Amino acid sequence: MLWLIIKNSPSYPGRPWATPASGEDATNRMRIDLHVHSNASDGTDAPGDLVRKAWARGLDGVALTDHDTVAGHPEAATAVAGLTGQGDRPFVVVPGVEISCIQGGVTLHLLGYLFDPAEPQFAAELDMLRTDRVRRARAMVDKLAELGAPITWAQVSAIAGDGAVGRPHVARALVAAGVVEDIPAAFVPEWIGDGGRAYVGKYSLDPAQAIGLVKAAGGVTVFAHPGASSRGAVVDEASIEAFASAGLDGLEVDHPDHDAATRERLRAVAAELGLLVTGSSDYHGSVKETQLGAFTTDPYVFEVLAGRASGGQVFSR
Ligand code: AMP
Ligand code: ZN
Ligand code: FE
Ligand code: FE
Repeated sequence: MLWLIIKNSPSYPGRPWATPASGEDATNRMRIDLHVHSNASDGTDAPGDLVRKAWARGLDGVALTDHDTVAGHPEAATAVAGLTGQGDRPFVVVPGVEISCIQGGVTLHLLGYLFDPAEPQFAAELDMLRTDRVRRARAMVDKLAELGAPITWAQVSAIAGDGAVGRPHVARALVAAGVVEDIPAAFVPEWIGDGGRAYVGKYSLDPAQAIGLVKAAGGVTVFAHPGASSRGAVVDEASIEAFASAGLDGLEVDHPDHDAATRERLRAVAAELGLLVTGSSDYHGSVKETQLGAFTTDPYVFEVLAGRASGGQVFSR
């Protein structure tokens, strides 16, 4: 509903949901970055700072999609309400999550949006995912110690703070200890890259199960960076088709880890399967180079996506 209010607001600059006439400058159209991380998981910005940064950058919205947690949502919602300084320009925060999944040994990430975070089964699964992240991070620390990399769980835990702990926190401890030069250098076979010497797997959901969980909580789903092969193995097209059959709504085609050819291929897959196409930065703050809003989602697509959801609402000013 809030979305409709914004959409129909006469004060919305440039009526950005309207199709730009040919030759019209499209820069005035609404830009939503549908995938960003805060320090509620492995990003470095607090949720409120992230919202204020996105606002200051001139974006029209962001989706907060921390790994396996919704803990950042309240602070983000408060921050939206407190945004000032740009007249009555609207801004939305889309409540979301990035769910850890696995299929046939291949890890993958599912974005969920506009779900009811209190839906019991959904909440219980997120809880289990976070709990096992702690066991797994501790196990990686133990393996690293055995390999002569002198980091401790206390250090990793201090870096993660209240956030859902993940490999980037372990990587930061390795950088601080001088074991590796930078974060990417930790994601290698010698250390904590997929299947690496000190890698430990974590509890993850079957993708179709995760899609069902989000749907049952009234939300919608987008397969995150489906072609990010630089991070490790990716699933094939037949799997994407199976996810579509399970109710997947969209594919995150425009993403920093996809080259032009991959984006083109995924756009074709989405068209073939009737999936929505989204774009997002996967911003993590200072631990990655990608800037907020590096990729964004077409406003019509977001409208369709949001229109399918019944479990949650955007936070708006
Ligand atoms: P985890 O969920 O704990 O297995 O950690 C996965 C996270 O690590 C991803 O969301 C990325 O933010 C980060 N990551 C994965 N691969 C790399 C890489 N090659 N270089 C830097 N960060 C990475
Ligand atoms: Zn991450
Ligand atoms: Fe991801
Ligand atoms: Fe992400």
